[in-house]
Amino acid sequence: MDKINRRVYLDHAATTPLDKDVLQAMLPYFSDTFGNANSIHAFGSAAALGVDGARRTIAKLLGAKPTEIYFTSGGTEADNWALKGTAYAKKDKGKHIIVSSVEHAALTASCAQLEKQGFSVTYLPVNAAGLVSPAELSAALRDDTILVSVMLANNEVGTIQPIRELARIAHEKGVLFHTDAVQAVGSIPVNVAELGVDMLSFSAHKFYGPKGVGALYIKSGVKPEKFMIGGHQERTMRGGTTNVPAVVGMAAAMEKAVTHLTENAQKIAALRDRFVQRVENEIEFVRYNGDRENRLPQNANFSFEFIEGESLLLNLDLCGIACSSGSACSSGSLEPSHVLLAMGIEHAVAHGSIRFTFGKDNTQEDVDYTVDKLKETVGKLRAISPLFAEFKQGVQNV
Ligand SMILES: *Cc1c(COP(=O)(O)O)cnc(C)c1O
Repeated sequence: MDKINRRVYLDHAATTPLDKDVLQAMLPYFSDTFGNANSIHAFGSAAALGVDGARRTIAKLLGAKPTEIYFTSGGTEADNWALKGTAYAKKDKGKHIIVSSVEHAALTASCAQLEKQGFSVTYLPVNAAGLVSPAELSAALRDDTILVSVMLANNEVGTIQPIRELARIAHEKGVLFHTDAVQAVGSIPVNVAELGVDMLSFSAHKFYGPKGVGALYIKSGVKPEKFMIGGHQERTMRGGTTNVPAVVGMAAAMEKAVTHLTENAQKIAALRDRFVQRVENEIEFVRYNGDRENRLPQNANFSFEFIEGESLLLNLDLCGIACSSGSACSSGSLEPSHVLLAMGIEHAVAHGSIRFTFGKDNTQEDVDYTVDKLKETVGKLRAISPLFAEFKQGVQNV
């Protein structure tokens, strides 16, 4: 057996490694500055200073006010809160919610839960590139619509939605607008005022921060129901002792990501583009999924026809290459990605889809090694694929 002599991480949409500087910023809050940020004494105020500083830093980087940032346990919690918190707070006004059909499971599962509780949900279709149409949103808005939620950038295909325009359309009807910006923050510029959104979710571990911490931006005056009760934290909206090192780490990670955003995005997009170009030139029967222009710099998603994404994934893993079929949360299930299906990709082709997401530590050698192994593996799998044999037979018979 070949020994693995290279390890290439191309799954940055699932999570990113913790940045070394971020770890350094966090460390004192695990030991010396251990106080409960809500305690009155000096131990508490030292921790509170860290939390306040983090909140100010994050608010500034997003163009928000510190009082509009509510720390959570991550993106999933922020999405659950935005959706259900708003639904419960506004149920007397109406029970209709609009989301896109390519949302993260945190959103879609919350929608399913709300539907069981008597809310109705419209799932906006997307085009072949994964884009929501503003006209479709206009047409879907009703008198009883209370919330629209469309993600800023998709986690599977990287498509960036026209959020500013979608939010404007919702607001014309007096409807609140939430966006899941978990994939976008740290990768592309994100400013809540420019986007014009009422709520925005993000998560530290997607931009080289720690796992288990995120936040929901809630614009002043917008009042979803409290998420967790029993403590005065987060202006009483989300009780529970603050995870001080995590919050400090999120701020440090965000500051670093935003400061170096342009240079990192250029570097990462160049790697991604080299990868895409080589795959398209050197492997036949591949489809590049998503929008070529409105797309996150780190994302490449390909369907390799006639093979199973899972087999490809496992074979690449044996070569030391980490990538993903669909989202981390839904892989393991045999259903093809709901995102690719919503984009009109046939079941069989969606099954052969792999997401490669690049990061700031990847190199050109990583790209070239991956393409080489990919070519080899796709060739091997097609050689034993009944679908491919059938296809070739069909071509010969024409
Ligand atoms: C990762 C992700 C989430 C979930 O965030 P966690 O912090 O892992 O809970 C939500 N939405 C999108 C788009 C994501 O990529």
